[in-house]
Amino acid sequence: MSESKNNRFVQMSAVRREDQRGVMEEIEKEGHCPFCVENLQKYHKNPILEEGEFWFLTENQWPYEKIKHQLLAIHKTHIEHISELDPMAGAELIRMFSEESKKRGIEGGGVAIRFGSSPDGNYGSSVLHLHAHLIEPDLKALGETEAWKFKFGQPKNYHK
Ligand SMILES: [Zn+2]
Repeated sequence: MSESKNNRFVQMSAVRREDQRGVMEEIEKEGHCPFCVENLQKYHKNPILEEGEFWFLTENQWPYEKIKHQLLAIHKTHIEHISELDPMAGAELIRMFSEESKKRGIEGGGVAIRFGSSPDGNYGSSVLHLHAHLIEPDLKALGETEAWKFKFGQPKNYHK
């Protein structure tokens, strides 16, 4: 698997699912960012649950395994690093996640924002446009020695 040469907005080495790969390859060829507003509708098929000042709240189109809920907040403008985030966007994100977790009766889980890129590998995001996850793992689906983990990076030549 080689890193994208002509599309700096996506990282093919971070793609997790086979059904996701085809779409990501198309995006890679197009050379644009799938999370930018002008392209979002084309690739993201889940409804937008809320549009805030800073974020679109939706659900992940490429669910992880063994989860009950997987919310995705996509920053409305193209930024890639947490240092570019307006503190007010942080406040809105927590408000959105909080309200939606109440609505869904989410018992527990975690929130994750990966950011940035490196020639030495990837920080786990297939799309560099800043986005945030709220995940409720399905504890009953996990094996006795299994823990639900979120990846924050892997080296360039990582193999499963
Ligand atoms: Zn973008």
